[in-house]
Formats: sequence, structure tokens, C-alpha cells
Amino acid sequence: ALPAVHASRPSPSDAAQNVASLAGLDARSISAWFGTHKVLDRVSLSMRAGEVTALIGPSGCGKSTFLRILNRMHELIPSASLAGEVMLDGQDIYAPNRRLTDARRQIGMVFQKPNPFPAMSIYDNVVAGLKLTGLRTSKRSRDDLVETCLTKAGLWKEVRDRLRQPGGALSGGQQQRLCIARSLAIQPRVLLMDEPCSALDPTSTRRIEETIAELVSEVTIVIVTHNMQQAARVSDRCAFFLASHGTPGVIVEHGPTSVMFENPQDERTSDYVHGRF
Ligand code: ADP
Ligand code: MG
Repeated sequence: ALPAVHASRPSPSDAAQNVASLAGLDARSISAWFGTHKVLDRVSLSMRAGEVTALIGPSGCGKSTFLRILNRMHELIPSASLAGEVMLDGQDIYAPNRRLTDARRQIGMVFQKPNPFPAMSIYDNVVAGLKLTGLRTSKRSRDDLVETCLTKAGLWKEVRDRLRQPGGALSGGQQQRLCIARSLAIQPRVLLMDEPCSALDPTSTRRIEETIAELVSEVTIVIVTHNMQQAARVSDRCAFFLASHGTPGVIVEHGPTSVMFENPQDERTSDYVHGRF
């Protein structure tokens, strides 16, 4: 049986009815290289609107690379190249006429190590997310945005009286929630999270999981995690990546989280999710 965080929130279809701007992400036949080293081989995955998709699998099988391809960060690495398509709400983010900033604005990312701007105030850290959009806003609307994003990230009550303190003064878990608030400031349609709790203690981890469960009604979430309990708790669907014996990473199996954990079709999935890898 799946634990409570997963069970207590509205079903994806309920959520989809409430929020018009939910968007799915569809990766089609993605291959990736660093120089001549091929690290992903024709990976296809649909990440549905209003759901949490967990990417699981051993280190080095290309999960982070796949995630970076989903918001066009991969192309920042000089040796990197790729093939395939990534459709956001039916539009290829790699189409020639599509601007790079367009993809970044709609697809936010949170990393393993919390990386707020440490010397910048908590308030300015959240507003910094907005700079990406180039939008000019009034002080009043910035204040509203900061409160809204910090509330959604589960941090508002803790920091409302010290918004001018530096982001670096917060605890690790709070810093990660500040990073979530910063990424929400651009109102992304998809939020990518690369092992967001790996550097955090169990209590902070749990709070981030609760935040994920609340956020998914308004933003599609893709999370890489090595923590199988976490995958079971937070995700609707899982994709199991594997790169065996130096071959490029592939998805061995993907499907509803309950099936992946309780009735996987591939023995390697079963071994991995039960820690026999
Ligand atoms: P995972 O996140 O599943 O651990 P990664 O996507 O980080 O896997 O890595 C997949 C493969 O790509 C590994 O073999 C890794 O060494 C290689 N790789 C990752 N980043 C780079 C890079 N910037 N330059 C060269 N090789 C890289
Ligand atoms: Mg990784």
C-alpha cells in the first residue's frame, strides 16, 4: 500500500480541471552524447500534466542528463549533443523558431544541492526567479509574488518576519524550499527536481514531499530520486533507467508507481525497487 502523502491529494483529473495551464511533457526518442560517448539511447517518456513522474535507476544511467534535456540545459555543456524531440503541451521546445529562454521560463529546475544566492535576501532570491522573464512588475505585485511563492514552498510562516535576511542564513531544508519558491516565481508549467532531498535530513525531506504533493495540482513535476520510499510516496508514475555494461542509458520499464513497485514486468525493475541491485 502506498503511504499517506500520495493518497491524500486530489486525483490528477480533479487537479487538471482546476488549473488551466497544466502541461504535459513528452520526450520522444531522446539520445544524448558527451563528445562521442553516448549516454542515452532513444529514450521516450510521457510525463503527464498534473502528475508526479519519478525517474529512478542506478548512478550514471543518464537521469540527470535526461532532466537537463527537458529544459534545454544540456546544450550549455560544450561537448554535449542530442537527438530527439521534447514536446511541451504539444510544441517541440527544440523547434528552430523556439527561443531557449522560452523553454527555461516554462520549465523550472531544482537541484540536489540547495543553491540560493547566499548573500542575497530571502525576498530578492524569490524575485530573482522573475528576472528570467524580463517582466517589469510593481513593488506591490512583487510583494504578493514573494508571499505566494514562499507559501506554496511551505516557507512563508518561517520567514515572513525576516525576508531581508540572507538566503544563506537558512537551514539546508529551508534553502531548498527557497529554491523551490524561486523556481515558482516564473510560474513554470513543469518543475524538474534532481534529487532535491539527497542533501537533506528526514524531516526536511518529508516537508519537501508534502510541498510536492500540494504543488502538483498546478505544475507538472518530474523528480529524480534514489530513495525508493520517496518515489513510492510522491509519484504517480515511475520510469526505471538502466545503463548496463557501459551501454547508453535506456528506460527498462515505466508505468504507474503501484505497478512498478508491486507488480513490475521486468525482473530488473523488481530487483532495483527492492534494493537488490
Ligand atoms: P545519473 O544522473 O543517472 O547519475 P548522469 O546523467 O549524470 O547520470 O550521467 C550519465 C553519463 O553521462 C555518465 O556516464 C556520466 O559520466 C556522463 N556525464 C554526465 N555529465 C557529463 C559531462 N558534463 N561531461 C561528460 N560526461 C558526462
Ligand atoms: Mg544524477
